[in-house]
Amino acid sequence: MSKTSVLALSLLLLAGCSGANHYVQRATLAINEAVYRTHVAKLASDEFEGRAPGSPGERKTVEYLEQQFLALGLQPVDGASFRQQVPLVEITAVPAQARLGFAGGGRQMDLALGEDMVIGTRRVQPSSAISDSEVVFVGYGVVAPEYGWNDYEGLDMRGKTALILVNDPGYGSGDPGLFRGRAMTYYGRWTYKYEEAARQGAAAAIIIHQTAPAAYPWEVVRNSWTGPQFWAETADGNADALALEAWITEARAREVLAMAGQDLDALQRAALQRGFRGKPLGVTASGSVRNLIRRASSPNVAGYLPGRDRRDEYVIYMAHWDHLGKGLALAGDTIYNGAVDNATGVAGLLAIAAAYRELLLLPSRSVLFLAVTAEESGLIGSEYYARYPLVPLEKTAAVINMDGMQPLGRALDIEVIGSGASELEILLADAAKRQGRVVKPDSRPEHGYFYRSDHFNLAKEGVPSLYTKVGVDLRDRPPGTGQAMLEEYTRERYHKQSDDYDPAWDVSGNIEDLRLLFEVGLQVGAAPSWPNWYEGNEFRAKRDASQQARKP
Ligand SMILES: [Zn+2]
Repeated sequence: MSKTSVLALSLLLLAGCSGANHYVQRATLAINEAVYRTHVAKLASDEFEGRAPGSPGERKTVEYLEQQFLALGLQPVDGASFRQQVPLVEITAVPAQARLGFAGGGRQMDLALGEDMVIGTRRVQPSSAISDSEVVFVGYGVVAPEYGWNDYEGLDMRGKTALILVNDPGYGSGDPGLFRGRAMTYYGRWTYKYEEAARQGAAAAIIIHQTAPAAYPWEVVRNSWTGPQFWAETADGNADALALEAWITEARAREVLAMAGQDLDALQRAALQRGFRGKPLGVTASGSVRNLIRRASSPNVAGYLPGRDRRDEYVIYMAHWDHLGKGLALAGDTIYNGAVDNATGVAGLLAIAAAYRELLLLPSRSVLFLAVTAEESGLIGSEYYARYPLVPLEKTAAVINMDGMQPLGRALDIEVIGSGASELEILLADAAKRQGRVVKPDSRPEHGYFYRSDHFNLAKEGVPSLYTKVGVDLRDRPPGTGQAMLEEYTRERYHKQSDDYDPAWDVSGNIEDLRLLFEVGLQVGAAPSWPNWYEGNEFRAKRDASQQARKP
C-alpha cells in the first residue's frame, strides 16, 4: 500500500468508534511487566540450561512454549502440533584435534584453538583437512555484480585457502558511493564469505577478525564457534561446503602476513580500491578437524489465531527461542542463560499473543506466533521455515521480529534496524507518535544487524519485515545513558555467561515497545491492503513477483 493509504488507514483506526478503541486499549494492558518478567525469568533460569537445540534445555523450553500457546488459545497450523521439526546435523570438532598452522618465509606457526583461531567444517564427515594449501588474500571476498565488484576476478581458487576481511568495502572506506557506504550489505556477513569462497571452489576460508568491522569482540567468535555447531544438511552431506572454515584473530593474521612479507594495513587499503584483485601470499595453510556427528532435529514452535474473515492471510510475530546452552566455565558459571538474547523476545511474543487473545474482535487476517530454533547457529530455524513455510509466504502480509530487547527503561525514541526499507515503518511511526515517541533510523547500519536475525530469511523471500531496537533517548536519564548501557551490554554480556536476568531490570521501555509492535501487527491485520518494501529496496522485486497471489 502507498504511504497515503497506510496513513489513511491508521487515521481511520484512530478515529474509529471509541468503543472498539476501548477494547484495543484493554487488550494492550495484557502486555505488562508482570507477564513479561515471569516469562523472561523462567526462560533465562538455570533450569532451562541456556536453551541449546538438542539439549534438555530445549525440551523444557519447547514444553513451556507449548503450554503457554495452549493456555493462550493458539491453534496448531496443521491442527495437530505446534512443532515444526527442523532437521539439523550437529558437528562437534574435537578440541584436542583441531589444528590450523601456516608455513612460509622459512617459518612455521601453529595457532591455538580459542586463543588464536576457531575452526570447523559443515561437511558431514568424520574428519576434514587441508594440507599445504596456498593462501590467497582475497580482500573482502565479494562478488557483487550490481556494485561492479569481484575480488575473485581471474583467480583459480581450487584447492586454495581464501584469507578474507570482515564486512564490506563500503564500510572499510566510509565512501557512501561504495556499496552502501558505512551501512553493511549482505556481502559483509561472514555467512556470505564462506558461501562465496565455496562457490569459487576454495578448499578453505579464513576470516580475519577485527572488532570494529565485525561489531563484536573476539570472545563472541570464540564462544559461538567452539562446541557443537548445528547446520542444515543437504542430501549429499554438505559436500559443496568448504573443507575448513576458520576465523583468526587480527594479531595472528598480522603475523601470518608478516611471514609473507606483507602488512595487513597496506593490504586493507588495497582491498578498498575498485579493481582490487586477490593475490597469493606465498604462504601455505594446513589444518584439520575431527568431528563428532550427531543428527538431531529441533522444533520451531508455531501457533496462530485465525483471522475474522481473511483467514488465509497472515501477520507473523517471530522470536528465536534458542541460545548457546552450556560452555566452558567462566567465574564458575557454565550456563549461557541468554536473558536479553532472546528470552526477552520470546517473552514479548507470548505477551503480544496474550494481548490478541484479549481482543473482543480478532483482526481480519490471521496472526501466527512463531518461535524459531537455531538462530544462534546461523538462523537455521527461520531458514527452514522460509523454505517450508507453514502458511504461504506470498500471503504473509508482514513479519515482526523480536530479538534482544534491552532493559534500558522508557525511551522517547525507538529505532528501526535496517530502516528505510518498508511501509511497516509508517505504521510504527504512527503508533509511536501516539505514545509521544519518535522512530529513529538505524543508528549502526554498518553493523548489518538487519542481516543477523530471523526476519532476514523471510525478507529474502519478499515478506515485508520489521525489526526494531530499543530507543536510547531515555526519559528522566541524562543524555548518553542509554547508549552507554547498550555498549556495556555488547562488551560485557552479549553471548557471554553473564547475559542473566536481574529482577532489578527496568523493563518499562520493553513494555512500551511491545505495545507498539502489537499495534503495528493489529493494523496490518485489519488492513485490506498489503504493505510493501519501498521502491529500490533489495527485496521489493521478490515481493512484486508474487503480486498475483495477493489479488483480492
Ligand atoms: Zn538473538
